Amino acid sequence: MNKRPESVRVADVQYAIIYTKKDYDLGDDAYGIILHEKCLIKILKTCPEDIVKHTVWHEVLHAIYYWYDIQDEDTEERVVSKVALGTYRTLLENPELMEYLTASR
Ligand SMILES: [Zn+2]
Repeated sequence: MNKRPESVRVADVQYAIIYTKKDYDLGDDAYGIILHEKCLIKILKTCPEDIVKHTVWHEVLHAIYYWYDIQDEDTEERVVSKVALGTYRTLLENPELMEYLTASR
């Protein structure tokens, strides 16, 4: 198993990533959550690795949505422009994360 990343940098904000059992923040249904006010991503550690990877990326996209100021009412072109910029920069700034997410099984 590839080493799970312990942090990710999105738009110059460093988030810690912790792998934890179910707790108050995660609730009953979630595999992960992002807490912007704490610069923290929490992932349910007991999930199969593919789901952990998917969930880490899910929370990273929430960080991009948040820091790149994407609004629910934005047009498709604006959303695509922001997501393209945010994901591209995040890929470049987090090679260890990308290595983890793309490692073969
Ligand atoms: Zn979500």
